[in-house]
Amino acid sequence: MMLKRGEIMKVTEIGSRGLMFDFEDGETTLGQTIVYLIKGEKYFFLCDTQTGSKPMSLVKDYIEEELKNKQLIIFNSHYHWDHIWGNDFFEDSIIVSHSKARDNMIENAEKELKENSKFVEGKIKIKYPDITFDKKLSFEDEGVEFIYAPGHTSGHAICYDKKEKIVFVGDLVEEPIPMLFDKDLDAFRNSLEYILTMNANTYVTTHSYIASEEMVNVNLQYVKAVIDNKKTPEKILKNYPDIETLDKFNRNNVMILKYENILKNSNNNFDGDRFREELYKEMKIDKSKYDSSVEMIASIDKDKLEKKLKEKV
Ligand SMILES: [Zn+2]
Repeated sequence: MMLKRGEIMKVTEIGSRGLMFDFEDGETTLGQTIVYLIKGEKYFFLCDTQTGSKPMSLVKDYIEEELKNKQLIIFNSHYHWDHIWGNDFFEDSIIVSHSKARDNMIENAEKELKENSKFVEGKIKIKYPDITFDKKLSFEDEGVEFIYAPGHTSGHAICYDKKEKIVFVGDLVEEPIPMLFDKDLDAFRNSLEYILTMNANTYVTTHSYIASEEMVNVNLQYVKAVIDNKKTPEKILKNYPDIETLDKFNRNNVMILKYENILKNSNNNFDGDRFREELYKEMKIDKSKYDSSVEMIASIDKDKLEKKLKEKV
């Protein structure tokens, strides 16, 4: 069967109260995005809201009857557009995120919407979280916790169903290696180590279906290798030969982010977008040659990039 964009590919029940809505997007580069629902006694918890009203209306159709006497709590794992665009759809919901995720959203959401408008599904009005937390937010009787787990972004959090031992890890774990968008890799390593110590047996991810414990470990080994400036372990490269571009992107991107941070701290008017534009121009990079910014950043010679960045600080 041909799938239309935004159409639910499948709904999978996990444990006694979890539903995994698996959206497949064949026409664009968005790929798989999963929205996870926990059906509690008093509350329903919806982890992330995908790309607009259309996918959310499909979720609503599926749970409408059961939702009638419950309060819907929406959990935003982080501020990225493919996790928050459906926030506005459920009228009576309460949206919760980490405080930094909300700050990041206020700073970036409108810009991200403009830049990625081709991915909009249905209607969108950016809606920010109503409630924020710093370390953890527990729904005690329900056995559900939102826990701060930075790394993918500085405000990333996970949702833990303690009763079912299922954790929704959002973008913290990806197969086979995570994309690195934040300079703080120590935080990333700590978060991955933490989820391995949790009393969990299922890791639901946004873009890589259900991750095994082994996959979480592979992500951890990779992040450690980047921190130590060591080559990506052979074991990972052997199993996933096509990750080379992503690996190069990650290492270059983290380097740029680190230098950006130095400049940001010494200059109140620092403009990250303008900084990157100038950097690419000075390095004579022809943007039109590449299909995506990931490919473009991956193509840069690491040593030349470092030299250029050093000149700038
Ligand atoms: Zn993300």
